[in-house]
Amino acid sequence: CIFCKIAAGHIPAKIVYEDDLIVGFEDINPQGPVHVLMIPREHVGNVASVEPAGAELVGKLVLAGAEVARDEGIEETGYRLVLNVGPHAGESVPHLHLHVIGGRQMAWPPG
Ligand code: AMP
Ligand code: ZN
Repeated sequence: CIFCKIAAGHIPAKIVYEDDLIVGFEDINPQGPVHVLMIPREHVGNVASVEPAGAELVGKLVLAGAEVARDEGIEETGYRLVLNVGPHAGESVPHLHLHVIGGRQMAWPPG
């Protein structure tokens, strides 16, 4: 899995956040001035496959995403935290990842 390889350092990425459980890195195809992907170091499928025991990990992923937004200076202007699940959402990598996107005005609802 490509995100497992990024977490292991086997594929280069611009890492902006690291702790014992989570890695955050810049998206290769950014959808805004800030676009970071937050992933668990261990392979976990999308949020639909997360067991109840994974609730703490998902919570930590979200809070780490908020911390990155603060560090990137977009807390005041705002940002979006996104979990794409399945084909209609355009999920393309089967390793749990939270998008942190900001630095520009975004539309709602999304396209
Ligand atoms: P999703 O469409 O929600 O599955 O998001 C996958 C994201 O991973 C997309 O925004 C891609 O641009 C991004 N991506 C794919 N490969 C890489 C990579 N090697 N490094 C950084 N981001 C990547
Ligand atoms: Zn993986």
